[in-house]
Amino acid sequence: MTAWLEIKDLYVNVGDKTILNGVSLTVEQGEVHVIMGQNGSGKSTLSNVLCGNPHYTVTRGSITFKGKNLLEMSVDERAREGIFLVFQSPVAIAGVSVMTFMKYALNAKRKAAGLPELDAVSFMKHVKVRAKALGITDEMLKRPVNTGFSGGESKRMEVFQMAVLEPDFMILDEMDSGLDVDAVKIAAAGVNVMRSPEKAVMIITHNSRVLELIKPDAVHVMVQGRLVQSGGAELAQIIDKSGYAQFMAEKGA
Ligand code: ADP
Ligand code: MG
Repeated sequence: MTAWLEIKDLYVNVGDKTILNGVSLTVEQGEVHVIMGQNGSGKSTLSNVLCGNPHYTVTRGSITFKGKNLLEMSVDERAREGIFLVFQSPVAIAGVSVMTFMKYALNAKRKAAGLPELDAVSFMKHVKVRAKALGITDEMLKRPVNTGFSGGESKRMEVFQMAVLEPDFMILDEMDSGLDVDAVKIAAAGVNVMRSPEKAVMIITHNSRVLELIKPDAVHVMVQGRLVQSGGAELAQIIDKSGYAQFMAEKGA
């Protein structure tokens, strides 16, 4: 049996520079995985490769998702399969309200999956539950997409958009960095809203604070393009205390 998401011995280049050096990782439905590592260790490269960013070239290894070869899929196909990267680069769409945009996006996704579109009433219900959980006000829902939001508000909106779209596999890349404690709480609330037996989450961070609010199934440490150690939440505490040097020694770097 192959895993739901299976990354095997993945090597990735940007130009002629090798950035990932043999990453292997399996994620099953229902699981929350955390990848920690210093700046420049290759965390964002991994999330970019999963989403199909064409700047990154896979030179060796494989990724399967739901039994299919992910590396053969276009960015759109991956999105339809339910892979969603939070905090890529939000687009501002003038004049279109958040609600209109979300209804369109959710129904496009449902259609692609062969599901009936949600009518106005069911859609409102779907939105209200998630807005409430993430502290989104009615006034914020009326504003145009990604315009006129402060830094904190816009992070909150991105997590909300993700929660409305209900991706199967959600990658949060450093959504908790460079912001205040509030942002960490929003990130955690987003993950907890999303958590379900059918879905999985990958949290990429170099900050262990988010782990105080989310109980991950596994924590992995990335050093120089390789996952050098895996364990539970206790790994984050070890990193907090003694940093990454110990893992570099283990890798022989
Ligand atoms: P992290 O997210 O762990 O901070 P990244 O995956 O962003 O690490 O980067 C890993 C290494 O790959 C860094 O040395 C970075 O400079 C390089 N890198 C990543 N993306 C690109 C890119 N698009 N072009 C050139 N170099 C890149
Ligand atoms: Mg990064």
